[in-house]
Amino acid sequence: MPSPSRHHPAPAPPPPPEGLRHPRWLTVVLSALLISMAVLTVLATVSLRDHARELAEPRLNSDFLVSYQIATELNMLIDAARSVQAREGGTGELMLRLQLLASLIEPVPTAPRAYTQLLDSLPQARELIEQLARLVMPWLARLQTAVQEQADREVAQDILGEAAMLRTLSDRLVSLVHRQQGNIQDQNRLRLHGGFYKLEWTIAGLITGSIVLSVWLLILNHQSRQFGAKLAQANARLESAVAQRTHELAWLANTDPLTELKNRRAFMEAGEALVIQCRRYPYPLSALLIDIDHFKSINDRYGHHLGDTAIRRVADAMTATLRETDVTGRLGGEEFAVLMPHTDLNAALRAAERLRLAAADLRIPVPGQEPINLTISIGVADFRHDMSLDILVMHADLALYRAKHDGRNRVRAFGTELSSPGDAA
Ligand code: GH3
Ligand code: MG
Ligand code: MG
Repeated sequence: MPSPSRHHPAPAPPPPPEGLRHPRWLTVVLSALLISMAVLTVLATVSLRDHARELAEPRLNSDFLVSYQIATELNMLIDAARSVQAREGGTGELMLRLQLLASLIEPVPTAPRAYTQLLDSLPQARELIEQLARLVMPWLARLQTAVQEQADREVAQDILGEAAMLRTLSDRLVSLVHRQQGNIQDQNRLRLHGGFYKLEWTIAGLITGSIVLSVWLLILNHQSRQFGAKLAQANARLESAVAQRTHELAWLANTDPLTELKNRRAFMEAGEALVIQCRRYPYPLSALLIDIDHFKSINDRYGHHLGDTAIRRVADAMTATLRETDVTGRLGGEEFAVLMPHTDLNAALRAAERLRLAAADLRIPVPGQEPINLTISIGVADFRHDMSLDILVMHADLALYRAKHDGRNRVRAFGTELSSPGDAA
């Protein structure tokens, strides 16, 4: 098995994905735009609302009406005076005309609102009307107190005497209202134009804001997609790093770091599984116990480092010589074990012999000296029904003891007097 520690170094932890970001200036510009748009909208709305109210006000028309009414009434008064002079008119006509005129020019608490406004907004008009009132009101008073017919004629004569003056006053009043209305309309036009000007800016701001907002949304959308893709990548990297790390940890927990064979715990675990299978489906299973001969003297003579090299080389020879399906492990020190499924005792003895020869062929390089060689002893045992793994390993150990006892560098089987070709060595 490839070593993650030697060949696949753990990847660096993935960098944290960048969060959604947008330029600061965009926020500032957008906020300024939104605020100015809101202010402009409020200003334009207020200004236009005032204008709408003003335009809905009937004052201007009323000013016209009042001034023309006064002018008309004056003309009718002069006509009535002429009729009285010519003895054509009825006696009450002059009185009626004067009363109507008085009701227009004499401000009374119940007077029409438009009349009051006309006086208020036009001080010159007030003057003209007061002049008119000074002429008209005494005539009315005279008519109301004097003998009717005589008084009518006298008043009619006075009215005709002042006719030119009365016409001048009414003409001035009418032209004054015209001028005043022209001014007011000009002002209104200007203010209306100002209101629409603000409205134009508001609409321009709204359009600009909408464009900026749309662009911003597009940027945000793009960024969020990129962010999502980065997040997915980071997740995938993280998952693969976690999976690899888990795999490494499992490997480290089960593997002897020097030889990369299974350690004792992992070997026994795999062995238990094999034994369970052999109990269920009876197929042959054999075990080898391998020990390097006189390993202590190698350590003593060449040092532990070289001893480690020797252990590694023997492990490599085991991996090279045995089947992939065989379970190999280092039980401790210079002692190894192999479980060989689907292998009976004879086949296991042949495999052990191949391994013994391979070990004997090893050349362990020693710095500055000739390479050294070593030998191994192997004990072999086969699985019988109802046997535990511990018993199987113990049988192989007894056979190993026998191999050592018989002179080392040889293979021995448990419970037989089978001799190995290595006996000659
Ligand atoms: P025998 O032929 O009877 O097996 O003799 P031996 O010297 O090999 O036997 P013994 O078990 O007495 O010696 C094993 C030595 O292996 C003892 C110990 O110092 C050494 N050893 C155990 N583990 C390691 C290791 O990981 N590295 C090295 N270099 N030496 C080790
Ligand atoms: Mg030994
Ligand atoms: Mg030993």
